[in-house]
Amino acid sequence: MVKAAVCRAFGAPLSIEDITVAQPGPGQVKVAVEACAICHSDIHFIDGAWGGALPAIYGHEAAGTVSEIGDGVATVEVGDRVVVSLIRSCGACPGCAKGMPVTCTGRFSIDRTRPLTDANGDTLVHGLKTGTFAEEAIVDQSQVVPVPADVPMTSAALLGCGVITGFGAVTNTARMEAGADVAVIGCGGVGLNAVQGAAIAGAAQVIAVDIADDKLDAAREFGATAGVSAGADDVTDQVRALTGGAGVDYVFVTVGAKPAIEQAFSLLAPGGAVVLVGMTATGVMVEVDATDIAGNSQRVLGSKMGGGRLPIDIPLLVSLYQNGRLKLDELVSKTFPIEDINEAIDEVKRGEARRNVIVFGEVNRARPRGS
Ligand SMILES: [Zn+2]
Ligand SMILES: [Zn+2]
Repeated sequence: MVKAAVCRAFGAPLSIEDITVAQPGPGQVKVAVEACAICHSDIHFIDGAWGGALPAIYGHEAAGTVSEIGDGVATVEVGDRVVVSLIRSCGACPGCAKGMPVTCTGRFSIDRTRPLTDANGDTLVHGLKTGTFAEEAIVDQSQVVPVPADVPMTSAALLGCGVITGFGAVTNTARMEAGADVAVIGCGGVGLNAVQGAAIAGAAQVIAVDIADDKLDAAREFGATAGVSAGADDVTDQVRALTGGAGVDYVFVTVGAKPAIEQAFSLLAPGGAVVLVGMTATGVMVEVDATDIAGNSQRVLGSKMGGGRLPIDIPLLVSLYQNGRLKLDELVSKTFPIEDINEAIDEVKRGEARRNVIVFGEVNRARPRGS
């Protein structure tokens, strides 16, 4: 039995319980979780915004050490330090063949088993196909990627969702060209990674838009060239003024809010693209002027998990981190033991955290750069 945070009722605090994680079957990997960040997607699920069955164990932005492997696992070995992600890919379906594993439609043996059970032996839902708000997790082998020892677990955890989602929206989904002007709406954990992705990929201007001044300051640290308060009534005018009246080539909307998505189109230059990164609650509709989009040859791009391809993107992000170009440690706000997960979640809901990270055991905590 291992400790886990179980969601038994939508909107209620998670309950800390002992659970059992099954032995890994063919192609599956068990990970001793050492760090798991709290992502807004976890909170949407916990609040019931996306429905789904309960009781469930969520958590999907994690890192740990491989403790057991099933038959046929070739990509990792017991003892490997790994990033754990919800991106699961079969390698054989049309989505995978097109190089878009986030659209994988393959079937996995793990979904036909009961990987998680509670103390009474009852089934627990394997939330986000990951379930890392627990001391142990079981996932398909495609969901783990080794990381070197010089990346602290608390920082490595962020690579699997928050970082790849923001960074990949720029590099994979938008394939932003150097010299583009960019706006990023929402500068939380994902938004800051869109900002640093755009800066690293050579954007001419990266204009951060957020309601909170401290988040605009953070965005500047991560490479934004200007900050615009989302609370101002002239956001569109300010962004247009910064771009000589033209508007920006890409708007990355990292918050799942209807007004933010609708506003994005007003910031866009002819030929530009709005990239939808943040997920709204199920059923939220947005209104846009279709004639404007067609008449200006604009595009709307959906970006699930930054179009992430784990075996390509994780090593790239690690390399950028090791070379001092990608900020990771700075994204970790605070660490919490699993017993305090509800407090950690409340802080995230109040917008107080870039990333709050649940830690298990004596992990290699993030340390400030240069210390
Ligand atoms: Zn996430
Ligand atoms: Zn597939």
